[in-house]
Amino acid sequence: MKVIETLWFTNRDGCIGIVVVEEDVTGDRKAYIGPASGHNEKADTEQIMAWGNKFSLDTALRLRHLLTEKKEKKCDFNCNKTDEPLIAFGNTDNGDTWLCHLSCLREHLEMQEELLEEEIKEFKQHVTT
Ligand SMILES: [Zn+2]
Repeated sequence: MKVIETLWFTNRDGCIGIVVVEEDVTGDRKAYIGPASGHNEKADTEQIMAWGNKFSLDTALRLRHLLTEKKEKKCDFNCNKTDEPLIAFGNTDNGDTWLCHLSCLREHLEMQEELLEEEIKEFKQHVTT
């Protein structure tokens, strides 16, 4: 049996592995799932091949696809615009990157500005009365 693919899922309690194998003679592919130590990939792979439960090959391949597929780039303002390029802004304070449309950012800033103006107005009223 030849190992085609291994997928590892690790959390603080341990590790679960899915191993996709190919039969030498028939060329059939199968998937096995089982717990693993997470310390030695080769030993874990062999253990799952020997003692793991059969797993749906289709699901294994779909999981692989989900894990490796690039995250779709989306506007951080959660808009649905598709006709405008996305622009990345770096926050120099914390290193975060903000990805959005320029028009969304403008709308957001205008909204902030209105709020700020209202607050200033209220503050002035408060001071003068
Ligand atoms: Zn947007």
